[in-house]
This record gives sequence, structure tokens and C-alpha cells, in this order.
Amino acid sequence: MYDDNNIFARILRGEIPCKKVHEDEHTLAFEDINPRAPVHTLVIPKGKYVSMNDFVEKASDTEIAALMRAVRTVAARKGVDASGFRLIANNGVDGGQEVPHLHFHVLGGRVIGAMVAR
Ligand code: 5GP
Repeated sequence: MYDDNNIFARILRGEIPCKKVHEDEHTLAFEDINPRAPVHTLVIPKGKYVSMNDFVEKASDTEIAALMRAVRTVAARKGVDASGFRLIANNGVDGGQEVPHLHFHVLGGRVIGAMVAR
């Protein structure tokens, strides 16, 4: 069940400020409040989707395409499209997801390093 009071829902409603990087009809991208790399931007759908499962099951093809395209736009805007970046979507408990609104982390600006902790 989607929690209407999760932090990203509140950002989408404008109740909490964010440093916006990109916005379109279906997506919002903003700087992570606790950046783990020189570039650390979050890209989220505007729809109420908890996780990838939820998103893929319920979102329209237009929303799904928009999220992928927004990642590309953010990478270009942040100047990491040529140098490269890590795209992460933590899902559920084992994935280490903290905020229950689907989000992609775009991380770059340095070599990000090992894919996962062993
Ligand atoms: P997760 O662990 O769910 O994949 O990532 C959640 C991310 O949201 C974390 O990287 C965290 O720093 C970021 N975050 C949490 N609260 C806020 C907030 O109020 N504003 C912004 N911009 N980012 C947040």
C-alpha cells in the first residue's frame, strides 16, 4: 500500500523543498539530500508507485518510458552521460529501500566503485 505521507510524496506536493534538476508531466528529478557522489540525483515518477513491481504492474507505457527518458535527461544535464554513471533502484527490504516511493539514484562524477558490498 502506498503511503501518502512518504517524503517523496510530500516533495511532489510541494510540502518539502527540493533542488529540482528536471520535471515533466510524469517525472521529477532532484538532488539527493545526502549525496554519496559528486553527482547524486534522484529520479521519480509522479504517480503513486512504491516499487518497481508496483510501477511495472500499474503504470502506463507512457509513464514507464518517461521515467527512462528522464534518467537520460538527468545524466546529460548533470554532465555524466559521457563519463558514465551508476543507476540504482533499491527495492524492498533486501534491496535496502528507505523511501517507499519508486526512485532511481543517478550517481557519477567519479568512479563509483564496486557494484555491491560483499
Ligand atoms: P533509498 O535508500 O530508499 O534507495 O534512498 C532514499 C534516498 O532519499 C537516500 O539517498 C536519501 O538521502 C534521500 N532522501 C531522504 N530524505 C530526503 C529528502 O527529504 N530530500 C531529498 N532530496 N532526498 C532525501
